[in-house]
Amino acid sequence: MLKIYPNDLDEILALAEDAEGPPPEPQGGIPPQWLPGWVRWPVRVILLPFILLDLAAQKIARLLITPPFKKEGKCLKRGNCCHYILVPEAKGFLGRLFYFWNTQFLGFYQRMPEVHQSDRKRVYVMGCRYLRKNGECGHYYLRPAVCRKWPVIEYFGYPRIIKGCGFKAVPRK
Ligand code: SF4
Repeated sequence: MLKIYPNDLDEILALAEDAEGPPPEPQGGIPPQWLPGWVRWPVRVILLPFILLDLAAQKIARLLITPPFKKEGKCLKRGNCCHYILVPEAKGFLGRLFYFWNTQFLGFYQRMPEVHQSDRKRVYVMGCRYLRKNGECGHYYLRPAVCRKWPVIEYFGYPRIIKGCGFKAVPRK
């Protein structure tokens, strides 16, 4: 089998940072979603207010208890965060349900068959079928919570932001 990507996740992301163009599609092309649109889209529209409420609550929590870093800059539409989405390995019923949600509802697809190690988690590297060639999101108003929060500034550890994306993490004074 043709090997396109290195095994190590850090190496994959380092290649992405320096890449001039988008990564290759998975072998065999982007797998189609078999769940029909008339099921996917109404569910996403119904869930949108809950996602927005959850994000607002998280924003308020961050105002009350501030993380050690703050995010500065703006998206340069290089697309790397949409090309390399890390989704936990599907284990058990809930894991498989989450995988199903990510692939059938959100439209992500596995970029490579291998499972990678990220911090202490085993993850799939996924791409998103809604990313347009010009780096814009094809479903901006319905985009998932993970896309709205990205890049995430955690309370612990140094924030991991893909180089060249336009954002940087700045320590709070
Ligand atoms: S939904 Fe939009 S922002 Fe989210 S990964 Fe896909 S293209 Fe990127």
